[in-house]
Amino acid sequence: MLIVMQAHATDEQVRAVCQKIEGLGYRAHAIPGAERTAIGLTGNQGEVEPAALEEMPGVQEVIRVTKPYKLVSRDIKPDNTVIRFAGTDATIGGPELAIIAGPCGIESREQAFAVAERVARAGAQFFRGGAYKPRTSPYSFQGLGEKGLQIMAEVREMFGLRIVTEAIDNESLELVDEYADIIQIGARNMQNFSLLKRAGRARKPVLLKRGMSATLEELLMAAEYIMSEGNYNVILCERGVRTFADHTRNTLDLSLIPAVQRLSHLPIVVDPSHGTGKRNKVTPMSRAAVAVGADGLIVEVHHQPDKALSDGMQSLYPDQFDELMVQVRQIAPVVGRTARSAVTPQPSAV
Ligand code: PEP
Ligand code: MN
Repeated sequence: MLIVMQAHATDEQVRAVCQKIEGLGYRAHAIPGAERTAIGLTGNQGEVEPAALEEMPGVQEVIRVTKPYKLVSRDIKPDNTVIRFAGTDATIGGPELAIIAGPCGIESREQAFAVAERVARAGAQFFRGGAYKPRTSPYSFQGLGEKGLQIMAEVREMFGLRIVTEAIDNESLELVDEYADIIQIGARNMQNFSLLKRAGRARKPVLLKRGMSATLEELLMAAEYIMSEGNYNVILCERGVRTFADHTRNTLDLSLIPAVQRLSHLPIVVDPSHGTGKRNKVTPMSRAAVAVGADGLIVEVHHQPDKALSDGMQSLYPDQFDELMVQVRQIAPVVGRTARSAVTPQPSAV
């Protein structure tokens, strides 16, 4: 159920409605929008009698939500969610494209710094890199764990990039929540419901990757799990799905972007690296992702891809990432977006 408040409703009236809902034994989610606040009511098994809420001061209308997802829906918040980060003007979901770049995994301080320096210079606002790697083989590189998170925190200090890194279980999520700016939930965990609920109680925004055979509705329901626990800062991510096609690692389903944007106010970014698995397809698919209206990109970049401990084949060389940014910058205005400029090195003072 959705309680739409009047445009001029006061904070006190919003609070009173939330208290009423909680008094009835349900959960209230007040979601402020550009025009008005709406309050989502969750936790009810059956029908809720609307009369008691309809009569309250400041309430415009009470709507029964028939879709399975409620808090992710545009019904509760017609305007786009823009995620902001303290201490920086970087946003996700606003007019400026969010560019997240970095290696698949954090391998060493030297590697992380070498890549971070280049992606920051090219115009990325966010640095990605796994400290906990969910690998197909137990014998493959599993990530540096907390040491990797410490390196990422140093990258933030040094380059001013916000940090995105994956949590694979409740234990790692606790640490990632402490160190990172965005908690990544990987494709393999998209339906790990206990992990999603834990992420819903975290303080940091969550980047939720689409499962490799997840439908649009399953992705939105996974986001709903996070939001239902009170974390409303969720970023969706299309990273390719399994199909019969074998010229790429996965099939990047760009039609998901407009489909999500019709239904949900949440931002959605595209991962052309896992979406194709091939370095030579990352830039063309990045162009396409921006053209289709994605809110940003998450791209794997490595300074020595042939020596990478994971996903070297799909990692761009830093020079190729520079070129990707040049091309994306040209496409962005066509769809009413901007992309950050490259940082030109300052001539050294004499
Ligand atoms: C990753 O981002 O490195 C990763 C493992 O992605 P996914 O969960 O999409 O496979
Ligand atoms: Mn990877």
